[in-house]
Amino acid sequence: MAVSKTHPAEPVAELLAAGQRLFGENRVQEAGAKYPALRARYPDLQLHLIGPLQTNKVRDAVALFDVIETVDRPKLAQALAAEMARTGRALRCLIEVNIGAEPQKAGMAPAETAGFLAACRAWGLTISGLMCIPPQDGEPARHFTALARLAGDLDLPELSMGMSGDFAAAIACGATEIRVGTTLFGQRPASPIL
Ligand SMILES: *Cc1c(COP(=O)(O)O)cnc(C)c1O
Repeated sequence: MAVSKTHPAEPVAELLAAGQRLFGENRVQEAGAKYPALRARYPDLQLHLIGPLQTNKVRDAVALFDVIETVDRPKLAQALAAEMARTGRALRCLIEVNIGAEPQKAGMAPAETAGFLAACRAWGLTISGLMCIPPQDGEPARHFTALARLAGDLDLPELSMGMSGDFAAAIACGATEIRVGTTLFGQRPASPIL
């Protein structure tokens, strides 16, 4: 996945012209400003939400994205399920797991992920995998291995893990999708375009 957050549409269009089709954004508003015009030119473009989602943005997110990778709490899961039922637009979702159990970080606790998965499915969501942003403790492989094991236990085929600094380790641990921004687009500007 090419992570285009904070970058303008031009470099994204260059990657599309080169054949890249999977993109990630972490803010609904920014993606909404950038992607509809690109999607009109490339209807097979796939756009994933990889940032935190507030329930008051669920309507826009379901209209704009193809996959929501950051389902991390019951209130959000229920809001997504309700909006998908209302619109008939059923998006695939991933559960974001707080794999390092960091107090400040978004994501479901690993030990609570099985129960949350069952609840999400009962509410009507299609969950196809797990996503994580590991702690910056210099040992990403340990956390990637833990996420891969959890996904295996839960029989979930998709593993979204690995960024510019650690994607090789993530692939070695079984990532099915890596999320790469800086390596493709260069350093992000200090402030986002919106
Ligand atoms: C920004 C971001 C990335 C990409 O990070 P790079 O280090 O620039 O490759 C990947 N995943 C998430 C969730 C992000 O927010």
